Amino acid sequence: MILIEKVSKIFRVGRNEVHAIQNVNLHVLQGEFLVIRGPSGSGKSTLLLTIGGMMRPTTGRITVNNEELSKMNEPERAQFRAKNIGFVFQMFHLLPYLSVLENVLLASGFQRDSESRERARELLKNLGLSHRESHRPSELSAGEKQRTAIARALMNRPSILLADEPTGNLDPENAEEVIRHLHEFQQNGGTVIVVTHGHSADQYANQIVFLRGGEIVENPS
Ligand code: ADP
Ligand code: MG
Repeated sequence: MILIEKVSKIFRVGRNEVHAIQNVNLHVLQGEFLVIRGPSGSGKSTLLLTIGGMMRPTTGRITVNNEELSKMNEPERAQFRAKNIGFVFQMFHLLPYLSVLENVLLASGFQRDSESRERARELLKNLGLSHRESHRPSELSAGEKQRTAIARALMNRPSILLADEPTGNLDPENAEEVIRHLHEFQQNGGTVIVVTHGHSADQYANQIVFLRGGEIVENPS
């Protein structure tokens, strides 16, 4: 379960303060699928990064799987992330000099034991990428890149998958496929939080929230 209580994040840029998210409250049960929407600059990425422990909120409390994330220091959060969170980004963030298989293995700290390799290869197979294992990211289509990133995100068996505009660089067909993989993760008991402008995830969503100016608003229009 994810509990977000009165969470705000303020960035200080020179003398200015940017209130990226303000007084956000959210409650996501294990196995739920949450869709986050909102215009550019409304705080969607900041919210996702704070939920994933990549960023610390300025105020408020974040509790994930009964652990209070907002109290942890950076090494504790790094450990928490490795154990609990898979992350998928709009720009894929694959390492260009590694093969597809190595990019997936990277998530497990590059463990090269046969069990890790088997798991990575199984994930790639499930994502239709067996024939791309030894390819470099530059040799892949955008859809294949994002599916590689999904395999990497799933490598450590996270309980939560966070996806920040994962379909932003994909054509509708590949976008659908990515959303289907997120749904499959949910069907296996995982929690999904996805920032997306498209509507193909709506059919799976237990909750849809709209952000505006860093705040959750009831009515998006
Ligand atoms: P979205 O993902 O909805 O486009 P973001 O969460 O990226 O929104 O940004 C929310 C606000 O916070 C924006 O005004 C943005 O400029 C600001 N912001 C985000 N990250 C930083 C940062 N690291 N430093 C300063 N300002 C930031
Ligand atoms: Mg963003």
